[in-house]
Amino acid sequence: MGPAGHLHASYAERFRCIGPACEDCCCGQWTVPVDEAAYGRCQTLPAGAVRALVEVAFVPVAQVGAAGGGKRFAQIRMTEAGMCPLLADDGLCRLHEEFGEGYLPQACGVYPRAHTTVRGEPETGLALSCPEAARVVLLGPGLMVEGRGVEGDGERGSRDAERVRFLRVRDFALRLLGRRSYPLWQRLMVLGLFSRRLDAVPMAAESLVGEFDAALAGGQLGAALAALETNGEEQMDVVLRLAGLMLHRSQVLPRFEECLDGFRKGIGYGPGATLETLARGYGLAHDRYFAPFFDRHPQILENYLTNLMVQSRFPFGKRWAEGGDAEPIEYSMTREFLSIAAQFVLMKGMLIGVAGFRREGFREAHVVATVQALAKHFEHHPEFAGAARTLLVESRMDGMQGLATLLRDGAGGNEAGLETGQRKPVLRRRVPGRAVAAG
Ligand code: SF4
Repeated sequence: MGPAGHLHASYAERFRCIGPACEDCCCGQWTVPVDEAAYGRCQTLPAGAVRALVEVAFVPVAQVGAAGGGKRFAQIRMTEAGMCPLLADDGLCRLHEEFGEGYLPQACGVYPRAHTTVRGEPETGLALSCPEAARVVLLGPGLMVEGRGVEGDGERGSRDAERVRFLRVRDFALRLLGRRSYPLWQRLMVLGLFSRRLDAVPMAAESLVGEFDAALAGGQLGAALAALETNGEEQMDVVLRLAGLMLHRSQVLPRFEECLDGFRKGIGYGPGATLETLARGYGLAHDRYFAPFFDRHPQILENYLTNLMVQSRFPFGKRWAEGGDAEPIEYSMTREFLSIAAQFVLMKGMLIGVAGFRREGFREAHVVATVQALAKHFEHHPEFAGAARTLLVESRMDGMQGLATLLRDGAGGNEAGLETGQRKPVLRRRVPGRAVAAG
């Protein structure tokens, strides 16, 4: 696809808050920031019950000893039950109901939409920590639509040239996600290969896209990738360590605890478990319950990855996307790819465990609940994506063989669009002496 009609995100427009029907309302159980402008507006509310609630609930961060800033001038003091005191019994916000959206803190008014910019162009993703947003993203049809054109052809200065390059590479990545003639793990491996090549020759984006498109169409890449092996114990070990990343920084909320509990049961975690027994349980859960389900619903993980790419401003990342022309901003597509790969490995690993726990009863609702609980636990930590990437690098899983170990399902034929042959087991060989690191 040329630069005149690239893929862009419009799915966030489908989101509607379901308010009182929501199973995990966002108005509580975490820190809700209040920006300075909203704090000031609420000081002008007429005397009454809502004004009295606001005065108690909006606490300047200086008073609670937290770090502040324009978007986090104050925060909402939750009730003992952990909910926002402005939430009425009918599940609606009293501030919004009585005075309108204009009085809401920015975070409340925007959430779960994640408004970003790519070199000045607005774009909106959805935070999957909201259950309804998770349903919109995961269960909807393909998320991206062809549309908005790209100004210029790369010859009107570095800003346009870089933006066009960004869009060409992103289009390639998103189209690659939709190529179901390749198993999803192979599509991700191809993206990893592409990232390395682009980082080596950044100006060659156009020709690289052409080269990779031709190789994909010709089927040459599949055979080479199929030769890369996975290793169930190493994959299990990394999933467990990724799952443990934010435990020391986070309040563990009941929905996340429930999800962890299902994951542990699904892989046979308990007294006497070893990495070997866990990997065996994980492999069985994958083959018997996870893979058949996702064979029937291939768009779910593709949509998850698409939203992740939009949120992280893949392929060049947030720093580049928010930069300007004044000075060149270095980026590494490989670095951005590794962040996405690490988050995907964690999400998929948890879903495998939950599928093993739910067995034949594994449904879309369990996928939504798992993804939402994980997003709420991990994705609101700004350091999470970097920590997950670092874990891959420090585990020496950032090379092509390491990535195959983590991403490969164990068989090439278990995804939609392929001829299904014998599914090889996820477990291939034992890694002696490895300890279970977290969970
Ligand atoms: S979590 Fe989402 S659906 Fe639920 S109340 Fe908040 S915005 Fe609405």
